[in-house]
Amino acid sequence: MTKPTPSDTHALKTQLAESNKIKAQIETTYKKNISTITKFVGQLSHALRGVSGDIDQHLSKIQSTLQSTTRLDDIMPVMEHVDMLLRKEGAQLQRDLQESHQTALSAAKQLQQTQGLPQSVRLQVRDLLCEIEEPAYSIQHYLPCLNKLLALYQQSLKLPPKADDQASNATIKEELINLLSFLELSGNSELKLKSIQQQLMGQVSSEQLSLLCVQIIRIIVQSMNEERRSAQAFLLSLDEVLNTVSSCVSFALNDSKDAQKQHQFIDNKLDKELTALAQSTRAASSLAELKSQVSSHMVLLVSMLNEKKSLIEENNRKLTTDLAKAQARIAELESAAEAYKDKLNQQRSKSLQDPLTRLPNRAAFDERLKLEFNRWQRYGTPLAIAIADIDNFKDINDTYGHIAGDKTLQVISSMLKKSLRATDFVARYGGEEFVILLPQTEAADLAEPLQKTKNKIQAIPFKFKDNDIRITISIGAAVFSSNDAINSAFERADKALYAAKKDGRNKVVIDKR
Ligand code: GH3
Ligand code: MG
Ligand code: MG
Repeated sequence: MTKPTPSDTHALKTQLAESNKIKAQIETTYKKNISTITKFVGQLSHALRGVSGDIDQHLSKIQSTLQSTTRLDDIMPVMEHVDMLLRKEGAQLQRDLQESHQTALSAAKQLQQTQGLPQSVRLQVRDLLCEIEEPAYSIQHYLPCLNKLLALYQQSLKLPPKADDQASNATIKEELINLLSFLELSGNSELKLKSIQQQLMGQVSSEQLSLLCVQIIRIIVQSMNEERRSAQAFLLSLDEVLNTVSSCVSFALNDSKDAQKQHQFIDNKLDKELTALAQSTRAASSLAELKSQVSSHMVLLVSMLNEKKSLIEENNRKLTTDLAKAQARIAELESAAEAYKDKLNQQRSKSLQDPLTRLPNRAAFDERLKLEFNRWQRYGTPLAIAIADIDNFKDINDTYGHIAGDKTLQVISSMLKKSLRATDFVARYGGEEFVILLPQTEAADLAEPLQKTKNKIQAIPFKFKDNDIRITISIGAAVFSSNDAINSAFERADKALYAAKKDGRNKVVIDKR
């Protein structure tokens, strides 16, 4: 073996130093890579936290192993397991994504079809639908869409009630106010209904409206029960009286049967006595004997006749007592029936009159319309109808209160009545609407009295809260013409009234037919 030369030794040393340097470089790179892997695993486990317990556990195992060793062999099996788990989770995530994509799509479509959605919200929903319809590849792409959808749902939940709901509420309110004016109750029920009517004239939510309906029904049921109880009491007293009368009559019948028997008995005795008298008179041989026979028979006959007389008197007394008893009960019944009849008459006339204005109400109008319509059909005499509606009446209520509104209704009602002919029929049709039937009135004669009435109402000097107010009415009118059904002219008058309102109010419009 040859001894290395100094130059060889130098070369080897250099080579060794070079190798050490490379080794140190490799070690540094390795450590750097391990640290990058540790950081990556840390971030990965942070990002995936909560996705799966299994993955969480394995990642934290890799992290702790990386801190204690630099041998990749130790962590490779765990890494492979995590890799398998991640692939499984990824597939599940895709399935979930597809499913929630479908759900979001149908939720957005449903929102788009919701009634009463403002135009701006509807447009946003439409745009969002286009976005959602694209396939959802990743959560990153998809989450903002979901957020937007949720925000739009929240927005639509906060919307005020639909205009449709408000309109139907207003119609129900108006109809209830009208119906209440037909209800004729007394006492406490009347006061309760009045207060409900006033509440209905103000602002009422759907919920309050339902509660008020329930209250109205309760009051009606209560008063129906009271009515039934009072009818039952009347029938009960009628029954009692009939029982008394019938027992009086049967007593009288029995008495008279007994009396008849007693009469028969006395009559038989009388007959016998008379026969005996006849025989003894025939057998008498002397006047003295005859006299004595007759006088003794006469004594007996007189006593029998007296017996019969007192029997008749006793009988009559009993009969009179029985009859007087029956009569007293019948008189009681008569007065109860009279009171009941009065109440029914009162109710009937009340049920045809509007309590506030004292004008005939809608029910009375319906009756009168039938009568006038039949007359018009039979005799062909002219007949006209007009509907008058106070202009902007809601403003009077809103500005000066319901009491002022009620007063206005009373004043206008009496002016309507005063200004028209006595043969014209004016009724409060409901709310601030009046209907007038004008018999014997041709189309050409209709405008003049209605204009005059309208002007008179406009001239009434109302004063509310120190303000001088003028109130106007609009009138629509029509005459009945051939082939009209009972409501045809009313419908034409209603259309004419609508035209009068549209034309600026404070107008009379007559149907041109
Ligand atoms: P228009 O000129 O179009 O007829 O307007 P308006 O305000 O008169 O009509 P609208 O139908 O909007 O309102 C009628 C109001 O009448 C609403 C209701 O509160 C009121 N009202 C109905 N009945 C009575 C009542 O007996 N007393 C009072 N004070 N107000 C009533
Ligand atoms: Mg009105
Ligand atoms: Mg009206």
